[in-house]
Amino acid sequence: MNASTMTTAAVAFTTAGLLAGGCTYAALSAQSQIFGKVLIASRNPNEIALTYDDGPNDIVTERLLDLLTGHNVRATFFLIGDFVRQRPQIVRAIAASGHLIGNHTMTHPWLAWQSTARIRQELAGCNSILEDTLGVPIRYFRAPHGARRPVVLRIARELGLTSVQWNIIPKDWQPVGAAEIAARTIRAITRNQHSRRASNIVLHDGGQAGLGQPRLPTVDATRLLLEKYSPETGTKFVTVDSWV
Ligand SMILES: [Zn+2]
Repeated sequence: MNASTMTTAAVAFTTAGLLAGGCTYAALSAQSQIFGKVLIASRNPNEIALTYDDGPNDIVTERLLDLLTGHNVRATFFLIGDFVRQRPQIVRAIAASGHLIGNHTMTHPWLAWQSTARIRQELAGCNSILEDTLGVPIRYFRAPHGARRPVVLRIARELGLTSVQWNIIPKDWQPVGAAEIAARTIRAITRNQHSRRASNIVLHDGGQAGLGQPRLPTVDATRLLLEKYSPETGTKFVTVDSWV
């Protein structure tokens, strides 16, 4: 191999690396718009959307509903179809409390690496079970892990779904306790407020591994957030549909 072909090979290799890196970014970054438009947040720094993924979940979701109702706050819940099938009464309670409900697939796979048929089945299946349970159309979708590729967003659009990502993820599945979950979230909200944008926070009232995941620290962290951002502070809790 002479110097010139070595250079060509190096350039080709580097380009392939950059492309692969770029695709990984577009597929997994919470805020990338490269693979299609996703809803994240408004430019109003006083708005906060609490969003809860991976429910419904016994005890945790119900306690969360009581807490939110006590503060007269509406949140957004992205539910897993398999759990909806098993706990329709919790799903109806979420809707009855005035919260927004979205699709989080049937079984929570990494959609970026699934076949088109599987992606369609996951999204359409979750829509069906939610619509059968609630009797209203479902309009919002969050990809599990935020993982997507263009066909995921296209199928979502075909099913009438707006894809929603986030700009704060305090990793509430880690065993760090409510105070730390709240502290991580508050730091990130402050950063968003400084950059003049609303906050879209992913929390978890359930877990993809199954019903019964221990998420009560998330409920306690929510209590701390509701106390910190009381109406007198000028902040307002919204559901993600207010940003469309
Ligand atoms: Zn999830």
